[in-house]
Amino acid sequence: MRRLVQSAARFIPVKLTIPRLQQAASACTGCDLYQRATQTVFGEGSTHATIMFVGEQPGDQEDRAGHPFVGPAGKILDKALAEAGIERESVYVTNVVKHFKWEPQGKRRKHKKPSASEITACRPWLEAEEQAVKPQVIAYLGVTAAQSAFKKTIRLNDLRGRPWSTPIASNVFMTVHPSAILRHPEAAQRAEEYHRFVEDLKRIKQFLQAQAA
Ligand code: SF4
Repeated sequence: MRRLVQSAARFIPVKLTIPRLQQAASACTGCDLYQRATQTVFGEGSTHATIMFVGEQPGDQEDRAGHPFVGPAGKILDKALAEAGIERESVYVTNVVKHFKWEPQGKRRKHKKPSASEITACRPWLEAEEQAVKPQVIAYLGVTAAQSAFKKTIRLNDLRGRPWSTPIASNVFMTVHPSAILRHPEAAQRAEEYHRFVEDLKRIKQFLQAQAA
């Protein structure tokens, strides 16, 4: 028997508003990731945001809370946004897949990278979010998220600090995922990476100011 192509497409509502999308996504079974996660973690934030931040997937705490970027990485993002002079309430945050993918590691649930087919299956939700919010800039956080925009293998450091046009949208920025900052074992390295992250956010803000001038 032929297996159905995995995709969220059949769950997308006709009217693309964030509340309707959030409600519809709560019942998504478009790929297998819903089976082991607690719940769908859909994007949240200003529905008229100028910047949409796109990470890889919800983490352990996000999976339990049902909200994106509320764990340690979210706290780094909040702090960096404040330092860059970007109001947290003025942005929208989401992920390329909406369910937490994990594998057991002792008593912990260890993050596992989503596959290309899972990212493709979940893509209709992200496209619907982009259409509903219409941000001026989409900022991808981390290599996995960024590769989903370029649809090819990329080196993040080659792309940071300036806007790009991708097969998906123009005015696309790439930067590190805040969880990658936390993973550096040495404090000096973490501080350096955090500083670069804030600088990337400041460049996004400068870009938006130049567009508005
Ligand atoms: S990861 Fe995306 S496509 Fe897969 S079940 Fe969750 S919401 Fe649906």
